[in-house]
Amino acid sequence: MDDNEVIAKYKKYEPLFGSWRINRFIGEGSFAQVFELVRNDFGGEYAAALKVITVSKTRTEIESMKAEGMTEGEIKESLRGIVEDTAREIRLMYKLKGNGNIVEYEDHAVMEHEDGWGFDILIKMEYLTTLGSYIRQQKGSLAEEEIIRLGIDICKALEACQKYNIIHRDIKADNIFISQNGDFKLGDFGFAKVMERKDMEMSKKGTSAYMAPEVYKGQNYDTAADIYSLGIVLYRLLNNNRAPFLPKYPEPISLDDRDVALLRRMSGEKFPKPAQAPGGRLAEIVMKACAYHPRERYESPMAMRRELEALLAKGNGKSVMIYEDREALQKEPTDTGISGREEKEEKPEKKPLRTGAEKSRTIKGICAVLILAVVLGTAILAGFLISTSGRQNTKNVETMGQEPVLMGAEPQSVYFLNTGIRRGEIGSVTFLDTLADMPRDAEDVSAAGNGTVMAWAVQGENGYYDVYIGGEGGVWLGTDASGLFAYLINAEEIRLGDCVHTEYTESMQEMFLHCRKVTGLDVSGFDTAGVSDMSSMFSGCRLLSAVDVSRFDTGSLKKTTGMFADCPELERPDMENFAPELIEDMGF
Ligand code: ATP
Repeated sequence: MDDNEVIAKYKKYEPLFGSWRINRFIGEGSFAQVFELVRNDFGGEYAAALKVITVSKTRTEIESMKAEGMTEGEIKESLRGIVEDTAREIRLMYKLKGNGNIVEYEDHAVMEHEDGWGFDILIKMEYLTTLGSYIRQQKGSLAEEEIIRLGIDICKALEACQKYNIIHRDIKADNIFISQNGDFKLGDFGFAKVMERKDMEMSKKGTSAYMAPEVYKGQNYDTAADIYSLGIVLYRLLNNNRAPFLPKYPEPISLDDRDVALLRRMSGEKFPKPAQAPGGRLAEIVMKACAYHPRERYESPMAMRRELEALLAKGNGKSVMIYEDREALQKEPTDTGISGREEKEEKPEKKPLRTGAEKSRTIKGICAVLILAVVLGTAILAGFLISTSGRQNTKNVETMGQEPVLMGAEPQSVYFLNTGIRRGEIGSVTFLDTLADMPRDAEDVSAAGNGTVMAWAVQGENGYYDVYIGGEGGVWLGTDASGLFAYLINAEEIRLGDCVHTEYTESMQEMFLHCRKVTGLDVSGFDTAGVSDMSSMFSGCRLLSAVDVSRFDTGSLKKTTGMFADCPELERPDMENFAPELIEDMGF
């Protein structure tokens, strides 16, 4: 559909709000289309923005709902329910009206479709310039003072939100605008949520590139999550529009780089300083806003604003190049904010099959990098790459019998066990109860380092690795299995079969965290008598549709917060064996 066709769909509502007409199509997001409205009178032309959110069902959807037994009345009622939900955004904007740093709501109307099977929700608001267009107008750079002012203005917007217990949940460059008189404003309250007195929110909303770790992991969160996202906005403005841990500009960015950068950010690794503010107070403020633990961030938007204001008072007149890429600058502005090259999806690169010898070279290579890193004093990098036997393994070896015990995973490492394979490169994991078919180049992944648990990998057609882990009689997990399979973001299957034994295991926290593509997990045979912590165990398994926990022994279980958070496809499992208070916070 071209712009004129999109506009034609809503022309029938003109004149809108008395005397306004649609002038041009501005753009669309995931839920709404936005247009420029104009009104002429007494020789003056006035502009406003119109956001249209359509709530409707297609004929096929209606038929399939009817086939499921819903009556026409019930289907229409469900549509009204969605409209009421959507009207939430309007009520929030109305509440915040008059704040100079929040996009101003002006009016709204709800139009029922002629056939009675849908609604158009029209929201009129002030017309503004997007941050992306503004940066382009400034030839790709902003004065450092302007970046500080942006921080101050958005802090003010957050202060207003805080007054009404609102968390915005989608702070990103695309939702920041600038007015004619140079004020930065926060818009798009489509994901915003009013916190109930008791509630700390569980649902995961927003854009992962700006998302705070506690939101990403389905844990409790509050205004500190918005402060974090604002920190990421400022970080990117000071880092050639690149998120932390992405390759430095102008190196290209692959899909893998994005996954790894996200993983490193979510695992709590300290950010490198932004490239264009390597030292100095501004970088410190930004890093504090983006601290991994909410308690280490600013305690309020006001506290952050005061520090930015103190910095602004000093002034230095420096200017910061945000788009160094001249080509990107010359392209037509897309009005979609400043999301740039790194947002583009790229197919994973195909790598040659890695043999055992090559793999050990990789591991040696990692060690070499490690030594270099230590020499250079980058201890953080060293900590990140090491995934040799961890603390808990010593305990495993001492307290367990002669079973083949798998070494503990370092959940914070991008590498899976000590295979030298990055978690994001794994397409499947299969456990075996024999070593009969083990190739000669398999790696020892046993806790005791005695070759009782071995792993090997075969690269599939799609470029991802199928990893096999075997031991005679199966594989025993150690006392701490937390994060064992976390962030196998591209794995479609984790085949545990009857080959994984868990009678020693005490913690399954975050065990399958963000196994985003896994559709089923057979954990029904897990011995969980000794497990006290299952918090976030399946959190972020976005395609998981069924999981059987009905035979779990829950006698020792104390923590289940977010166990099934952000599993939109999951059919609620039978949990009669779980105490009611354990079910409360699971994230359904
Ligand atoms: P999202 O997918 O982020 O939830 P959405 O579906 O709610 O977004 P928006 O992103 O808010 O839709 O809007 C779509 C486009 O319209 C974007 O390019 C945005 O910059 C632009 N836009 C939104 N509000 C305004 C406004 N008040 N003035 C000018 N342009 C606007």
